[in-house]
Amino acid sequence: MKKHFISALRKALETPKKIVILPHRNADGDALGSTLALKHFLTQKKHQAVVLSANDYPSFLKWLPGETDVLKYTQTPKQVREHLHKADIIFTLDFNALSRVEDLTELVKKSDALKIMIDHHEEPEDYADLQYSDPSMSSTCEMVYHVIKALDEKEFNQTIAQCLYTGIMTDTGSFRYPSTTSETHQAVAHLIQLGADSASIHQQVYDSAPFSRLKLLGITLFNLKKIPNLPIVFMTLTQKELESCEYQKGDTEGFVNYGLSLEGIVFSCIMIENESEGKIKMSFRSQGAFSVNDFARTYFDGGGHHNAAGGMSMDSMKTTVDRFKKAVEEIKDQLDAF
Ligand code: 5GP
Ligand code: MN
Repeated sequence: MKKHFISALRKALETPKKIVILPHRNADGDALGSTLALKHFLTQKKHQAVVLSANDYPSFLKWLPGETDVLKYTQTPKQVREHLHKADIIFTLDFNALSRVEDLTELVKKSDALKIMIDHHEEPEDYADLQYSDPSMSSTCEMVYHVIKALDEKEFNQTIAQCLYTGIMTDTGSFRYPSTTSETHQAVAHLIQLGADSASIHQQVYDSAPFSRLKLLGITLFNLKKIPNLPIVFMTLTQKELESCEYQKGDTEGFVNYGLSLEGIVFSCIMIENESEGKIKMSFRSQGAFSVNDFARTYFDGGGHHNAAGGMSMDSMKTTVDRFKKAVEEIKDQLDAF
């Protein structure tokens, strides 16, 4: 973390401020954990801080301390607009492109508030006045841990630790992805010392699935297909299939990773239809040198990290699958033959 970032941040927070904190749309554990942890810290420091989310997020995150105070644009648009309008400072956490707050994008652009980005995605956009961007970090929660440590370590407590532990755990696949460093483990050890309950957080996030999730996993794995002669698999889920299982938000989180559990597979993709938004949401995961960040940017209007990225397609499922197959033909030289 650059010294300049911390000194500028310290200066911005010298007097009590009205602060808005934004996770990306469809917040995950890292986005919600980092925004809530920062909110708790800033509130303890006598600022007025609120987390505003563009839309709802999965129920397995709804136990996080402070979650019930998050205002969602889809539920209380007027309040969300008012908070953004009055804000002195807007923090944007866990995303690199302003469009990822979707309906809030224009409101943020128009705002005169000081904009501060904390994020670990590659190739961040240049919209923030202050930026702490580090793609080598496991998670935004790990970055917020360092920010709080640098600003005022004595403000750490169990509430903040529970939030930060959750995001580090979910973004590292429970400390197994290559982004997990000894520093990550040191931060996590400190969070456990502060009262983060590792076993109970794992249970609340991973062992609280609704029936619909496992039914959908069955369909997804049944639909799994391999690209002949290449170390690539893909899965699809149509709106009809989602509805047949009474789909709930968050049900499909992590499904794409199953593709990588196959021996020899280094690139896995899932395509999930969203009829009401008229698009197919795509998730990409890779192992090793192949960059799904580049792939998502080049072919599916997306981005993310080297080994985990997302994108979208406005075409039908059939056309999207055909486009995916065509795209992998173009990049196949970057992969070892299977
Ligand atoms: P997921 O596949 O879990 O939705 O996303 C994987 C990673 O890529 C996450 O870090 C997420 O923030 C990022 N990501 C997902 N979708 C998009 C997208 O459409 N655009 C960009 N720039 N990043 C995305
Ligand atoms: Mn993240």
